[in-house]
Amino acid sequence: MKLLSTGNPKTLKGTGQGYNTYILHLAPYTLSGKNTCPKATPGCAAACLNTAGRGGMFKKGETTNTIQQARIRKTNLFYNDRAEFMRLLVADIELAVKQSKRLGLKPVFRLNGTSDLSWEKYPAVRDGFTYNNIFAAFTELTFYDYTKILGRNIAGISNYHLTFSAADGNDNDVISAISQGYNVATVFGIKKTEPMPETYNGRPVFNGDDSDLRFLDPKGVIVGLYAKGKAKKDTSGFVKFPTIMLKAA
Ligand code: SF4
Repeated sequence: MKLLSTGNPKTLKGTGQGYNTYILHLAPYTLSGKNTCPKATPGCAAACLNTAGRGGMFKKGETTNTIQQARIRKTNLFYNDRAEFMRLLVADIELAVKQSKRLGLKPVFRLNGTSDLSWEKYPAVRDGFTYNNIFAAFTELTFYDYTKILGRNIAGISNYHLTFSAADGNDNDVISAISQGYNVATVFGIKKTEPMPETYNGRPVFNGDDSDLRFLDPKGVIVGLYAKGKAKKDTSGFVKFPTIMLKAA
């Protein structure tokens, strides 16, 4: 089973900057029967990018497809045979390094493509040695993710970059995340032809749709994203409107 994939239209933008993003897509939230997104909100679960692109193309009358089934299989493996899952992940990362070298690109990794797992908690074995986590096993590589979980134990993990994600009902966490120095990804209900707001929540807005390389973003910004797919119809509060400002709790 192959765990990592490339070819997402947004991450492909990174190749112009010399990076090749490898993403792990698991089944989000409770789709597999296990919750991979402990801080998911009704709005984000409904608008989740899990059904973006080919992942959301279903034959008439069907509610699943091969992409969704593969994500569920990977998630089941993660929960049912962690050692084998981590072995495959290490092997895939090593393969990605070789593949990217051939392409003249720098490989970078996003393990929560459609999940929000705390990867720092899971040991990984590389070359017979057990490391605290996958980041410690590959200190020479860069990993990045979005998360809705505040207080993840990543202090001292210099090769893992997290951007906090705003959603419906996590305004207080957003305020805490900003005060802790996180950039905050925020989905705006504006058209792609419209410019991003200059500021939001008192911070400058950086266009996060120009690439997916969040670890290159300036610090202290709101990472603005245009609403896509199901998010365009969101009424939960997951999608924000630049004129509506957040009040401090
Ligand atoms: S937390 Fe992220 S991956 Fe999980 S359901 Fe929400 S948007 Fe999807």
